[in-house]
Amino acid sequence: MEAFDAIIVGGGAAAWSAAIYARRYNLETLLIEEEFGGETSRAGIIENYPGFARIDGFDLMDKMKGQAVTLGVRLVDGRAALVQNRYHCFRVRVGKDAFQGKTIILATGMEHRKLGLSKEDALKGKGIHYCATCDGPLFKGKRVAVVGGGDSAVKWANQLSDMGAAQVTLIVREPDLSRAEPINRARLEGKRNVDVLFGNEIVELIGDARLEAVRLKHPSETGDRIALDAVFVAIGAVPRGELPGQLGVRLDAFGQVEVDPRTLATSVDGVFAAGDVTNASGAFKQIVTGAAQGAIAATSAYHDVTTHPATCGLHAVPVVGLLPASTPPARRRASATKKRRA
Ligand SMILES: Cc1cc2nc3c(=O)[nH]c(=O)nc-3n(C[C@H](O)[C@H](O)[C@H](O)COP(=O)(O)OP(=O)(O)OC[C@H]3O[C@@H](n4cnc5c(N)ncnc54)[C@H](O)[C@@H]3O)c2cc1C
Repeated sequence: MEAFDAIIVGGGAAAWSAAIYARRYNLETLLIEEEFGGETSRAGIIENYPGFARIDGFDLMDKMKGQAVTLGVRLVDGRAALVQNRYHCFRVRVGKDAFQGKTIILATGMEHRKLGLSKEDALKGKGIHYCATCDGPLFKGKRVAVVGGGDSAVKWANQLSDMGAAQVTLIVREPDLSRAEPINRARLEGKRNVDVLFGNEIVELIGDARLEAVRLKHPSETGDRIALDAVFVAIGAVPRGELPGQLGVRLDAFGQVEVDPRTLATSVDGVFAAGDVTNASGAFKQIVTGAAQGAIAATSAYHDVTTHPATCGLHAVPVVGLLPASTPPARRRASATKKRRA
């Protein structure tokens, strides 16, 4: 069985950032990715990741992945289905293959909440959608609704309007949009084809082969039924608990993996976690927080590997100091400047 110093499970910002750092620490690193790029790759245009004033989330993730692959991370496409802890040696099964690692970093993110209505599963992809970036272009010239009152819902309503939907209805359970970023709320106010229904929710999905309409809890001026071609569900997400459960790591009341914020260590020795699956930055879950946590988790995995005796049949990696790069960037730049001046 192939053995690694660090096995990273995930394919989002937290996982790829962890992979970049792990490789710079010379750790033999495996990354198992079920879906390329995680939520960021489907988030549309990103305007708050430092260094990029405006970048498509897909392109941002492509850059992170490219950087890690260049550094020599081993990539396996697939779902890590079973994780076992054998005395600080972790066995991970992906399909018919199995891998082992001295440490494991969980960066599995969150999964979308569903409306919980009958027909929701049957109409998935036939008018019920969970990603505006992916499916929005199919509804050019059509009537769509977004359900939710957070920042993702407001972003999606703006995005669907920009993608050419004829009419966008934002259905919000709360009385206001205070949970959304002011910049996204201001953009929404400027849209002529977006209307917002506050204090309302969908109670029934109507249609058999495809979604045709929805019934509202509280009738609007035009009645309790709205004809729609699609509903985009943006009502939050819950941390993916399967692998944390298999490893027996402690979760908080919201199902998030509890971590030490300084090290990203979980309650189980050798298991680290980063990104949206954790409680590291509370409810504030962003690409930049996920990437930062991936970096910290990889650093802790490196310290763990160097302080434990060889496990999984691997030798201890050589200690390369606290920072992995042989020459710190600041010093490299200073010496380059000196050379240019000379
Ligand atoms: C609509 C929307 C818009 C957003 N806009 C912004 C924004 O503008 N700016 C910003 O900073 N943030 C934004 N975010 C939040 C941001 O996308 C997340 O905070 C970020 O993606 C978290 O990264 P992550 O790596 O923790 O998890 P994720 O991106 O969720 O990645 C988790 C990955 O783990 C993989 N995975 C899960 N289980 C397994 C398994 N068993 N085996 C293998 N792989 C597995 C998944 O396939 C996925 O690739 C937005 C989110 C949404 C939904």
